[in-house]
Amino acid sequence: MALAELQKLDLESAALRKAAEVYPRQMAELEREFGAARGAVEAERARLLDVERQRRTLEQNIADEKEKVKKWEGRLAEQRSTREYAALAREIDIAKKANLTMAEELVELGKGMATLRETVKQKEQEHLARVEQVAGRLAELRRESENFAAQVKGLDGRRAAAAAQVHPPLLQRYETVRRRRMPALVTVVAGTCQGCNMNVPPQLYNTLKTTLGTDVCPSCHRIICAPEAIEPVAPARAPAAKG
Ligand SMILES: [Zn+2]
Repeated sequence: MALAELQKLDLESAALRKAAEVYPRQMAELEREFGAARGAVEAERARLLDVERQRRTLEQNIADEKEKVKKWEGRLAEQRSTREYAALAREIDIAKKANLTMAEELVELGKGMATLRETVKQKEQEHLARVEQVAGRLAELRRESENFAAQVKGLDGRRAAAAAQVHPPLLQRYETVRRRRMPALVTVVAGTCQGCNMNVPPQLYNTLKTTLGTDVCPSCHRIICAPEAIEPVAPARAPAAKG
C-alpha cells in the first residue's frame, strides 16, 4: 500500500531527525566547556601579570628608598647640631630597615612568581591537550551530524516519489492527521483501532477487511485499514515439486 510506504519513510525520517538532535547540543556543550578552560588559563595569566606589576613597583620603591638614603647620608656630614644629626641618622636607619623588609618581600614575590609561572605553563599545556581533544571530538560530531543530514535528504527524495503514488485526497488527509499525531495510518485488529484502542463499528471493520481500502477512525480520526491492506497475505502457491 502506497500510503503505508510513505508513512514508513516519514517515521524513519522522524527517528533520524530525533537522533540527530543530540549533535548541536553536544557541540554547544563542548564549546562551552572549552571556553571555560580557556578562561581558567587566562585567569592564571592575569594573576601572573598582576604579580609582575607588584614586583616592578616594589623594585622601583626599593630603588627610590636607596636613592633617598644615599642623599641623606650625603647630608649627614653637613649637620651642625647633634640633635639634627641624630634625627637624620634615625631617619636613615628607618629607611634602611624598610628597604630590608621590601627586599625580603621581593624575594618572596620572586618565589611566588616562579610557582605561578609553573602553574600557567601547566594550565596552558592542559588547555592545548584539551583543544586537540575537543577539536577532534567536534570534527567527529560534525561528520556524524552531516551523515544524518545526508540520510534525511535521501529519505526526503524517496518520500517525494512515495507521495506521488498516493491518491491525492488520501495524501491530503494523511498530511492533516500527521501534523497532529503519528502514526496517522493505523490498522484495525479484531475490530480495535490500533491508534486509540477503541472499537470501530463492526460494519466499518467488515468493509475494511473486504475492500482492503481505507477509512477514518470515528474515535481518533486517524486513517484506518485492515492489516491485510498493508501487508497482503501471500497468495497460496502450489508447493514446489520435490525431485
Ligand atoms: Zn482510532
